[in-house]
Amino acid sequence: MHPFTLSRADDPAKAITAHALDPQLAFIAGGTDLIGLIKDRAALPERLLDINGLPHMAEIQALPGGGLRIGALARMSDVAADTEVRTHFPVIAEALLFAASGQLRNMASIGGNIMQRTRCAYFRDETDGRCNKRSPGSGCAARHGLNRNHAIFGWSQSCVATNPSDLAVALAAMDAIVIVRGQAGERRIPFADFHRLPGNTPERDNALDRGDLIVAIEVPANIEARASHYLKVRDRASYEFALVSAAAALAADGRSILSARLAMGGVAHKPWRLTAAERNLRGISLDDIDGLRSTIAASFVDARPLAHNAFKVELAQRVALRAMQTAGARI
Ligand SMILES: Cc1cc2nc3c(=O)[nH]c(=O)nc-3n(C[C@H](O)[C@H](O)[C@H](O)COP(=O)(O)OP(=O)(O)OC[C@H]3O[C@@H](n4cnc5c(N)ncnc54)[C@H](O)[C@@H]3O)c2cc1C
Ligand code: SF4
Repeated sequence: MHPFTLSRADDPAKAITAHALDPQLAFIAGGTDLIGLIKDRAALPERLLDINGLPHMAEIQALPGGGLRIGALARMSDVAADTEVRTHFPVIAEALLFAASGQLRNMASIGGNIMQRTRCAYFRDETDGRCNKRSPGSGCAARHGLNRNHAIFGWSQSCVATNPSDLAVALAAMDAIVIVRGQAGERRIPFADFHRLPGNTPERDNALDRGDLIVAIEVPANIEARASHYLKVRDRASYEFALVSAAAALAADGRSILSARLAMGGVAHKPWRLTAAERNLRGISLDDIDGLRSTIAASFVDARPLAHNAFKVELAQRVALRAMQTAGARI
């Protein structure tokens, strides 16, 4: 095990400065991803700064107007059990409940969840194989290796990994905002801009820089959230990451769709919004299964499956359709 020192932060400004000045320092919240990364030697920080004692970062608050503010240190299990979340944003509660295990959800924080790194086996391989995310410039073993679990959208020759967070898919569908405090003050990052596509720099997962601390996530009120659903397909029924997942939410006039939100997980380096489908679903009846199916299919014309994951193209469309139907039944 790589050795590290552990200290505890009690002041956000000091924690941010320490992180900005010391490239060998990492924040630790629940530790459920970071400690695994250290064991796999995919992260080798010399100093861990425990942020669990920072004030006012574990609260879950209903905002005036119907939105939600979730502190970055709120635990997955607490958010999933929150009445406000369950009633007004079921897609968020379900994405959390389908993730990991009860014990992990009790430890794992919301900020840590959206920061978790890919489950690509080559990235997590402690023998240091070819992986541009782990060791920039070393190549991508998955591109022509075992890539059943990998991306079908937005990948590059440098990296074909997927983002493993279920919660991130739901937050993408809800157009959440990540509230980050850095040395220059606080900024608000739209969820669509938080995670990155791999391009030529797959070692960078997101828009954060040194000295950035996620303090909260805001979920704005929207008319679709109440009729929403998260559907996850995986190789076993629990304690497993998504092969493919969908977060769906919609508003309807009778059976006719007024507006829809659809985001997919397990298909790209970041949650993948089906924006073309969302636009074209307006006006379609929830009873018109062929119409729903073909509208969703139009968002998959630019899918680029790899050698072992062509099945995801069909599977993802079925998951999106089923998630839409379940969301529709909640209107
Ligand atoms: C066996 C197993 C199964 C799992 N299954 C699933 C699953 O099915 N679905 C799913 O979504 N997840 C799954 N997970 C992942 C789990 O949800 C994450 O490990 C967890 O959410 C990370 O939160 P944490 O608080 O433990 O983060 P930590 O491990 O403490 O931190 C993770 C990263 O986030 C950074 N960080 C933490 N908080 C902040 C902050 N406030 N600001 C800036 N950076 C921060 C840390 O520096 C670190 O880089 C699984 C994990 C395990 C071990
Ligand atoms: S897909 Fe990305 S994470 Fe996996 S081996 Fe290739 S570069 Fe590494």
